[in-house]
Amino acid sequence: MAVIRFKALEQVYNRKPLHVTPPSDKTSDYYAINVFDKVKMQRYLSRDAFNHVMEAIEKGTPIDRRKADAVASGMKVWAIERGATHYTHWFQPLTGGTAEKHDAFIQPTEFGGVVESFSSSALAQQEPDASSFPSGGIRNTFEARGYTAWDPSSPAFIIDNTLSIPTVFISYTGDALDHKTPLLKALNVVDKAATEVCQYFDKNVTKVQANLGWEQEYFLIDEALYYARPDLALTGRTLMGHASAKDQQLDDHYFGSIPERVTAFMHDLESEAYKLGIPVTTRHNEVAPNQYELAPVFEECNLAVDHNVLLMDLMKKISRHHGFRVLFHEKPFQAINGTGKHNNWSLSTDTGVILHKPGKNPKSNLQFLTFVVNTIKTVYDHQDLLRASIASASNAHRLGANEAPPAILSCFLGTEVSAMLDQLEEQVTSKRMTPDEKTALKLDIGKIPEILLDNTDRNRTSPFAFTGNRFEFRAVGGSCNPATPMTILNAAVAGQLRQFKKDVEKLVDGGVKKDEAIFQVLREYIIASKAIRFEGDNYSDAWKKEAEKRGLTNVTDVPEALSAYLTEKSRKLFSDLGIFTESELEGRVEVMFEQYTKKIQIEARVLGDLSLNHIVPTAVKYQNRLMKNVLGLKEIYGEDYKGLAGNRIELIKDISDHVTAIKTGVNEMVEARKVANKMTDEKAKARAYSKTIAPFLSSIRYHIDKLELIVDDEIWPLPKYRELLFSS
Ligand code: ADP
Ligand code: MG
Repeated sequence: MAVIRFKALEQVYNRKPLHVTPPSDKTSDYYAINVFDKVKMQRYLSRDAFNHVMEAIEKGTPIDRRKADAVASGMKVWAIERGATHYTHWFQPLTGGTAEKHDAFIQPTEFGGVVESFSSSALAQQEPDASSFPSGGIRNTFEARGYTAWDPSSPAFIIDNTLSIPTVFISYTGDALDHKTPLLKALNVVDKAATEVCQYFDKNVTKVQANLGWEQEYFLIDEALYYARPDLALTGRTLMGHASAKDQQLDDHYFGSIPERVTAFMHDLESEAYKLGIPVTTRHNEVAPNQYELAPVFEECNLAVDHNVLLMDLMKKISRHHGFRVLFHEKPFQAINGTGKHNNWSLSTDTGVILHKPGKNPKSNLQFLTFVVNTIKTVYDHQDLLRASIASASNAHRLGANEAPPAILSCFLGTEVSAMLDQLEEQVTSKRMTPDEKTALKLDIGKIPEILLDNTDRNRTSPFAFTGNRFEFRAVGGSCNPATPMTILNAAVAGQLRQFKKDVEKLVDGGVKKDEAIFQVLREYIIASKAIRFEGDNYSDAWKKEAEKRGLTNVTDVPEALSAYLTEKSRKLFSDLGIFTESELEGRVEVMFEQYTKKIQIEARVLGDLSLNHIVPTAVKYQNRLMKNVLGLKEIYGEDYKGLAGNRIELIKDISDHVTAIKTGVNEMVEARKVANKMTDEKAKARAYSKTIAPFLSSIRYHIDKLELIVDDEIWPLPKYRELLFSS
């Protein structure tokens, strides 16, 4: 077995960076060349069809069949000019990742030969055989009809000769089977609710858009080593491996110079991303060795989500051209930093104002405070749901671990905004403020500096931090589709803004002036949600105790965290806002439980196989060598051998102990699986996997990692951490 490891290492040492010549054009010359964006639509569509699509994008109005015909033929002409031969509806099923089924443009003619054809029905709606996508029982397999429908708000694009049309994926009964449908609904309700609140401050606002700027962290691992690690290849993370003597202690990787091979990969990736209109700007080394980050400029949330999943796909493909494999798993390596996907989120108006950015005067700052306070109140009221939105088997390694720990939700605001909220709380004491009090308060509100982007004021341990003009939801995991946390956050904020409006209106109806009513409601919210505000170290044990005192919840178990979707409060939120029907919600959560179970099950199987087929035989082989050595000493030195072979005898015993522990552990784990597998209720099964099987993953690993330090390096079968992490 060790042969494979050494062959893999040899390949790594012989690798040369692939020299990528970046396109000679200026980025702006080829940016979005493969996207059927507004510029191309204007060129390829009649004015009438163009206006119609614009209206559909801006107002969400349905597209008329005849106009869709015009759009389809314009899109076809453009796509064929760009070399496309096929088209596909591109969607995001609940499996994670994206799905596509390609069809050629060609259609045979009655005279023989073919013509390129693409009809409005092919653009607007398709019916993939959907029986193998998870739906949580919503759609029975014998009735496998689900269909995809065009989402005109995200532009079509060409990848590898295929025109890809972003679509939603729904069952014939209208239930959402994907990530995009509920996201679009949430974005729509937050638009409506926020626009109404904006009306208090500016009558010109007619639309509010949610923005998302994601930061994607990832690891690059040499492909040869990746193949030599079945655990990485099958589960996306290492299930074993002793810590490397050096890893990230010296912080010498963070922002360090990027290795040549990696730079070539990044060049390649960026030019492909630019062709697809994904505005990536930032790239740098992250904290852990072989860890990197990439971030685009923020965009409208639905588009940003599409761009994130599209880019993750691109990264998987392009990394392989460079002999790498990209890892998005939240914790591919034990004891070094994991992989997050910070979601920078804000709301902005069609008048060009970012609602989470301090304004220039008291009035715009009151609007800013309104949105900040309502966001904080949302996080407080829906801490459990927000946690659920980021919970998964892989992000569990960050839940409760020392990485933007999402097990306890809290909001960091920074000194300026905190001080402002404290003042609001103190000043609005009576129902009616004196004119002097009002002036004083307005002066204070006016003082909020427009730019708060003070890097020293950042709190990198906070799961939900205000960063000057946005909130950064840092608990989101690296491998997930950000549609889920974005759906929940935007929906919950929408619910909160509706409530805010009701509360203000109630006071106004009772004769309180509008501004004062806003102050009073904000004050109430500030007091009610105070417990969620935390400026300190979220990693400290002191915070755990403090959070408990404050009554905040702390849930590290994934199935338990996911259960928050099904509480009365959550159900009411989703049905009031029309995000999920009862059956959609239950189906979806069932898929989540099922996926949790399957992920742990696969890890358990892989660990069992590796333990019994790779690790135990290797350890026994080495133990036999030691025994031979001891017997040899005995032959030469007679009874004196004990003094000479002392520590080897100990080693023989240690190996026996570890091997026994591993074998017993694997047996017990298999038995626990048998019990869990009999359960029919998905939640109970997920619970059983979490409580009775997942713990074996670390207890068995402990003994394997000890053996790695004992056994001769020459025969150790799997590439070690130092090799995986320090070769690029
Ligand atoms: P850092 O690593 O310091 O948190 P980055 O520059 O890597 O920041 O990423 C910040 C992300 O936040 C970028 O995608 C950026 O475009 C985005 N962003 C900036 N302002 C806003 C905003 N108002 N709303 C949403 N996202 C924003
Ligand atoms: Mg960030």
